[in-house]
Amino acid sequence: MIRAFIETSLVDWDGKISSVVFFDKCNFMCPFCQNWDLIINPDKFPIIEWNHIKQKLQKKKGWVDGVVLTGGEPLCCEQEVFQICRKIKKLGLQVKLDTNGSYPEVLQNLIENKLIDFVAMDIKAPIDERYNMAAGKQVDLEKISKSVQMLLKGEIDYEFRTTCAPGIIDENAIHQIGKNIKDAKKWALQAHVPDNAYKALYRQKLNPEYYKTIKEYLKIAKKYVLNTILRSKI
Ligand code: SF4
Repeated sequence: MIRAFIETSLVDWDGKISSVVFFDKCNFMCPFCQNWDLIINPDKFPIIEWNHIKQKLQKKKGWVDGVVLTGGEPLCCEQEVFQICRKIKKLGLQVKLDTNGSYPEVLQNLIENKLIDFVAMDIKAPIDERYNMAAGKQVDLEKISKSVQMLLKGEIDYEFRTTCAPGIIDENAIHQIGKNIKDAKKWALQAHVPDNAYKALYRQKLNPEYYKTIKEYLKIAKKYVLNTILRSKI
């Protein structure tokens, strides 16, 4: 279900003005998740009906370029996602999907049906046993790899994104992820935000050296994906 809606955002889709809808389910439980309350306690948040969203989007016609589907993991709500994509497209707007990449078949289906225009897929760790720690769950790595390969084919515009969570991401991890997504169109390294992280360990204040470290990660990442950017509040 949709539990939150932002009418206008300048930061959720690079180069575009977007509205953002938040789905309330996720199959991962990442220790650094910022939206964990929405996933664990969805009933604390009101259900947002499509008619409300539609009205707001119609008012912003010509101003908002598209709608970002995020969460949670939107693809946990497959039927709802297909429905809302169709409705958004009818309004003449574009759709960006934020996903953890664990539903490659659904992703493929959305791409084939031209229901989405841009995919931002998380690469939380190298695609090996380290992924389980980053996702807080046992992950089917084959599914993550499938989604990566699908996006690398370039049938749709996309980016990979990695939150540089201390204890999960280090230089070795950046090299390894770089190999996993070599020559991708875009890779965004994101600074970890401790304030509202799910696990207490990840809420600890960051060492001032942290920001220097992620700039080093950026240099390494560019060796694998030229168009790597640093997305951060610093
Ligand atoms: S995949 Fe995203 S929404 Fe789900 S737990 Fe991880 S960070 Fe949170």
